[in-house]
Amino acid sequence: MLRLTEIRLPLGHSPDELQQAILKRLQIDADALLNYSVIRRGFDARKRGAIVAVYSLDVEVADEALLLQRFSDDHHVKQAPDTEYKFVAQASENLSNRPVIIGTGPCGFMAGLLLAQMGFKPLILERGKEVRPRTKDTWALWREHKLNPESNVQFGEGGAGTFSDGKLYTQIKDPRHLGVKVLQEFVKAGAPEEILFVSKPHIGTFRLVSMVERIREEIVELGGEFRFESRVTDIEIEQGQVRGVTLADGQRIAADHVILAVGHSARDTFRMLHQRGVYIEAKPFSIGFRIEHPQALIDECRYGSFAGNPELGAADYKLVHHCKNGRSVYSFCMCPGGTVVAATSEEGCVVTNGMSQYSRNERNANSGIVVGITPDDFPDDNPLAGIDLQRELEARAFVLGGSNYDAPAQLVGDFLKGQASTELGSVEPSYTPGINLTELSTALPDYAIEAIREALPMFERKIKGFAMADAVLTGVETRTSSPIRIKRNNGSYQSINTKGLYPAGEGAGYAGGILSAAVDGIEVAEAVALSMVSKRD
Ligand SMILES: Cc1cc2nc3c(=O)[nH]c(=O)nc-3n(C[C@H](O)[C@H](O)[C@H](O)COP(=O)(O)OP(=O)(O)OC[C@H]3O[C@@H](n4cnc5c(N)ncnc54)[C@H](O)[C@@H]3O)c2cc1C
Repeated sequence: MLRLTEIRLPLGHSPDELQQAILKRLQIDADALLNYSVIRRGFDARKRGAIVAVYSLDVEVADEALLLQRFSDDHHVKQAPDTEYKFVAQASENLSNRPVIIGTGPCGFMAGLLLAQMGFKPLILERGKEVRPRTKDTWALWREHKLNPESNVQFGEGGAGTFSDGKLYTQIKDPRHLGVKVLQEFVKAGAPEEILFVSKPHIGTFRLVSMVERIREEIVELGGEFRFESRVTDIEIEQGQVRGVTLADGQRIAADHVILAVGHSARDTFRMLHQRGVYIEAKPFSIGFRIEHPQALIDECRYGSFAGNPELGAADYKLVHHCKNGRSVYSFCMCPGGTVVAATSEEGCVVTNGMSQYSRNERNANSGIVVGITPDDFPDDNPLAGIDLQRELEARAFVLGGSNYDAPAQLVGDFLKGQASTELGSVEPSYTPGINLTELSTALPDYAIEAIREALPMFERKIKGFAMADAVLTGVETRTSSPIRIKRNNGSYQSINTKGLYPAGEGAGYAGGILSAAVDGIEVAEAVALSMVSKRD
């Protein structure tokens, strides 16, 4: 199989034109082309007047060796890599103990699926509810100002990514093509097939719910077990080795292999682990606001006369500005045609994030406009100090929003002038349960406000209208990534001072999104399987 890259065609081309382009590129006749499949399809929109589709393809030809020789100097014609996933171990029939996984986010789910497929019958513990009742609880905050601290956007089956845009791209290095395994499992569970080849795949929140259920069914069919509303409150460590976990109802579960995939909002769990002596260090993360513009403005700026073309869909953007005060401001988790969502898991806190449906056809575009911060900005040098800072900012936003889970908001024009907003303009904010127009300058530390005030006019230079007076800022965006890292050993994936404990995914500081968390879940599951096999289960 050959991998052919950089095949460029105009928008609206036919399948036949694609085939002709392959024949032309390889200088072969139609008879010599046996088969082909699209591996990646993106769009080059750098020239707004001449947007083109760009393909990578795997091509089966009659005489592969000859073509490889003919194109030996051409790095756009190569031998296709083998991306098929191969299991690293298989459990024996008489499995005597089973691995425990804490958390059912993309990391815990993928670890659970892999272990189940290898025959290890994992036990999966989740503090929140199954995904359907969880959806009801999440809507209760969005519609009725009612928060359930154990069942919400962050906690419950499917983890933090369930109510999201379901963007599935990552910048991690992936030499073993584990991302392909993840996407294939997602398609098996009901994701659209196009996620296997479009350059910026996304699923949208509706499908994610049923996908989560299907993956759960497969794990259970393979002998795995789920326990919901089962919050892990303690961990038993004997001479540096995990021996079990305790649930909130007092039940003790013996385990020598525990995957900790608790996400970035499990603050109580981090505190417990710290108290038990598990090594944790503070790490950088980012803070800021969500910004909302009309999607049409973003489409127009990015695609010009192609705006609205269904092949292109709603346009996204990625922005970064390095400020005079040494801070960097960047756009985070951009959601085209989406909504800003209430994403707190703690009472008395307000946190923003963004999500979209698969169609991405809501009126507004939103993204986090966030400022990078480091442990030097934290109130003290305790490893958990970043959590204290997050909580303080979230509590401040709660009060600024009116102390009822409405979020504080301000128009960009007023924010830049330093005056409170009193009336909305042309952009209607999408955050529910509601917003409270106010002054946001006290919502974040001064250096962050200064940096965002400098960055917005700079972003205007890249996207005309970005600093429009009526665009809306909603606060605060604090859960951009984990404020801690639970350090693990590179080779064994176990905590550096607690054997049998496998910190994984976003909460432990090893992922930053759905796909990277799921890939980390595979790697950690493999490490657990290899360890269990070497100890003969
Ligand atoms: C609104 C929103 C939109 C997002 N959009 C995107 C997007 O489009 N694309 C993208 O790549 N990323 C997105 N993200 C980020 C993404 O969701 C996370 O990076 C990803 O879910 C991390 O996966 P994880 O498995 O490591 O942790 P999580 O998904 O956070 O899962 C952790 C799980 O552990 C459970 N848990 C925690 N503590 C305990 C305990 N003590 N006992 C038992 N269970 C426990 C939690 O209930 C939770 O279900 C979004 C996040 C949010 C909140």
